[in-house]
Amino acid sequence: MGNNNIHCCGVCKQMRTEGILLFGFYICHECEQEIVATNPSDASYQYYVEKLRSINQSSYTI
Ligand SMILES: [Zn+2]
Repeated sequence: MGNNNIHCCGVCKQMRTEGILLFGFYICHECEQEIVATNPSDASYQYYVEKLRSINQSSYTI
C-alpha cells in the first residue's frame, strides 16, 4: 500500500509498520490493543503506564 515506514515499538521493541505515536513514543498496533484491553488493576497496566510516563518526562512533545 506504499506504507513502508518502519518504527521500533517502544513497548515490545519489535520493528513494526503499523502503530501510533503517543507523546513521541511509538506503540505498535498489537501493543496498543493490549493497552486498551488491559484492566487498570492488572500489573501489566502499571508497566505500560510507567513506560509512557517515563517517555513523557524525557521528551514532552504535546
Ligand atoms: Zn509493540
